[in-house]
Amino acid sequence: MSGYEVWGWGPAEEEPTAAGLDALAPFVQQTTGVAVQAPRPVAPLAALPPSRRLASLPSSLRDLASAADVDRARHGIGRSYRDLVRAQRGELVDVPDLVLRPRTEQDVVDVLDWAQAQGAPVIPFGGGTSVVGGVEPIGLVDAVSLDLGRLAGLVEVDPTSRAVRLLGGTTGPAAEEALRPHGLTLRFYPQSFERSTVGGWVATRAAGHFSTGQTHIDDLVESVRAVTPTGVWESRRLPGSGAGPSPDRMLLGSEGTLGVITETWLRAQPRPTHRWAATVAAPTFEAGAAAVRLLIQSGLSPATCRLVDPGESALTGTLTTGEAALVLGFESFGPSLDAESAYALELCQDAGLRVVESGPRGASGEAWRSTFVRAPYLREQLLLLGVLVETFETAVTWDRLDGLVAQVRAAVTDALLQVCGGGRVTCRLTHVYPDGAAPYFTVFAPARRGSEVAQWDEVKQAAAEALLAGGGTITHHHAVGRDHRPWYDRQRPDPFARALAAAKRELDPAGVLNPGVLLPSM
Ligand SMILES: Cc1cc2nc3c(=O)[nH]c(=O)nc-3n(C[C@H](O)[C@H](O)[C@H](O)COP(=O)(O)OP(=O)(O)OC[C@H]3O[C@@H](n4cnc5c(N)ncnc54)[C@H](O)[C@@H]3O)c2cc1C
Repeated sequence: MSGYEVWGWGPAEEEPTAAGLDALAPFVQQTTGVAVQAPRPVAPLAALPPSRRLASLPSSLRDLASAADVDRARHGIGRSYRDLVRAQRGELVDVPDLVLRPRTEQDVVDVLDWAQAQGAPVIPFGGGTSVVGGVEPIGLVDAVSLDLGRLAGLVEVDPTSRAVRLLGGTTGPAAEEALRPHGLTLRFYPQSFERSTVGGWVATRAAGHFSTGQTHIDDLVESVRAVTPTGVWESRRLPGSGAGPSPDRMLLGSEGTLGVITETWLRAQPRPTHRWAATVAAPTFEAGAAAVRLLIQSGLSPATCRLVDPGESALTGTLTTGEAALVLGFESFGPSLDAESAYALELCQDAGLRVVESGPRGASGEAWRSTFVRAPYLREQLLLLGVLVETFETAVTWDRLDGLVAQVRAAVTDALLQVCGGGRVTCRLTHVYPDGAAPYFTVFAPARRGSEVAQWDEVKQAAAEALLAGGGTITHHHAVGRDHRPWYDRQRPDPFARALAAAKRELDPAGVLNPGVLLPSM
């Protein structure tokens, strides 16, 4: 076994081949500027110690259990650079003792009852696409991975309110496929869409790839149902409510620490009938950002408003002129887009930007979208070619945006020089708001084989410090997990931290749910 089923993003036929890597290498070297290395031989998965909890599992839960090495290894990693490097090296130390796959909500209740009695840590697992150490049982003894994959599907459609009830383990493609016959879509496309799940999105407060409007899962959630160790938590379906702090909000971003999200009602939409896209060139990233601010503050709400710096623009083939690229898009299932698109282009031109192309779905926009969806596949190939590649993201108010981006670029470039002998960092704005934006950074550097994890840890440290110093958040949509804890702990108000810990004690008195994520282990 090559291990692809553990660390690979796609099905077996997507596994990188030696010929494919050879063909890709010159392109990578040319676009990233990083000298590639001979493809890394992937180490086979080392045999794992036998499961210790399997024997003590009550017979009622046996059918849900798997102690197979591949299964445990697959559930022992998320999808961060660190996870993939370790898996490709065959160095999986912290893996769950068991994988349990509930088929019903009662199974979830039974698993949590058993886990509390045993003191067994339980890690809810959706698609396992966490990039922040959300699903790895780091430092936990004999943890159990609770895979929600069987608790999946569309349960109910309310066409009058245009809302849909989905089970927590439903993946993005499965949700869209089930909604298509109803003429509906969630219109929610995180880059991990192919693998991530509805429950995972809610648990991490995920964001889709649209830049404005209803782009956070928070905006789509109408109600949530979760099993906590001390009872079922279900909020009332409401379009809005002023009745105290929101029970939904408390589960949004709870990252598997308060309960297992078994289902949720989400707001759906008809499929768009009009689409318009444009690519606009900006002389610099800063000039582009100024134009984006004007655009958003003018009241326009483009579905896509992605500003990409010159480096990333060339890398993704969006624009190869050395300018920053602004990819704009409007969508509608109602009125035509003529007025808003014309106004958007006028604003861009007034701000000194150059319109490269515009019209129904511009070609550059298409190029960007396909690169976006294929990125996880490219990433695993880059790793095999010895390229350190990772992303991090934040959000900050407009008044501090330029300063933060400059500070982060400087700190990360310096760290890359110290740690890797060079490398580059690119930036794009993924989401924009009237009062600020979410810059998303990608790092490319030559990896030192055997030291990749330590290298990235140092660079990440520098990046995270610069984010906080620049007034940003440690994460805009990647969540906290175990990896962001040190900075999250500094970012959140202390009384809030105490309130969250108290809620955790109340809902999960034995402290079995995802210990070490968001909060210190109890
Ligand atoms: C290539 C790539 C691209 C990505 N792009 C985006 C993006 O565009 N936008 C974005 O927001 N994120 C993105 N992510 C991060 C990740 O996909 C999201 O955090 C996603 O929401 C995780 O969903 P999941 O189902 O894979 O959850 P998992 O990774 O399985 O779990 C994530 C966390 O949620 C908890 N959890 C999962 N399911 C449940 C449940 N049912 N009940 C309770 N807790 C649960 C887990 O315990 C864990 O703490 C990306 C990741 C990768 C690897």
